[in-house]
Amino acid sequence: MSVGFENHDHTFCIQDALETADTYCSENGLQFTKTRRRVLEILLMQHKALGAYDILAHLSDEGLGAQPPVVYRALDFLVTNGFAHKIEKLNAYSACSHPGISHSPVFMICRVCENIVETKTEPLHSFLGTTAEAAGFSIEDTVIEVEGVCPSCQKSAQI
Ligand SMILES: [Zn+2]
Ligand SMILES: [Zn+2]
Ligand SMILES: [Zn+2]
Repeated sequence: MSVGFENHDHTFCIQDALETADTYCSENGLQFTKTRRRVLEILLMQHKALGAYDILAHLSDEGLGAQPPVVYRALDFLVTNGFAHKIEKLNAYSACSHPGISHSPVFMICRVCENIVETKTEPLHSFLGTTAEAAGFSIEDTVIEVEGVCPSCQKSAQI
């Protein structure tokens, strides 16, 4: 599943991610509880990052009345199992666009509309790998966050 800034069938996007999570959890004997599933659904509604308190607000609107620790535990579950990522720059969470595949994400964050696109990189085969090698450093994990302006916001700025 690859998602760009261009228009796409977002309903399919949500269904696909939920199905992947369902399958992964049943194959690995993980409990995909109602709260965990709902938190993932909320993250999938838009290609944006949400803070724990935004998610909490959604849940209480729905009468699920969850407490912060419940939301943090659900987010922790989603991040640990690769269904979501934490965007450190925004102190927020975003649903993963490549669930079930081990990857090093690159997040492109539009500073105007706050949409986020996640792509993958191979750090060992990029300039990072070369730089690390020169320093004798062994990379285990990378998360790259890039800020800028997405294609549709660039277009509307020109009108
Ligand atoms: Zn989508
Ligand atoms: Zn991802
Ligand atoms: Zn934008």
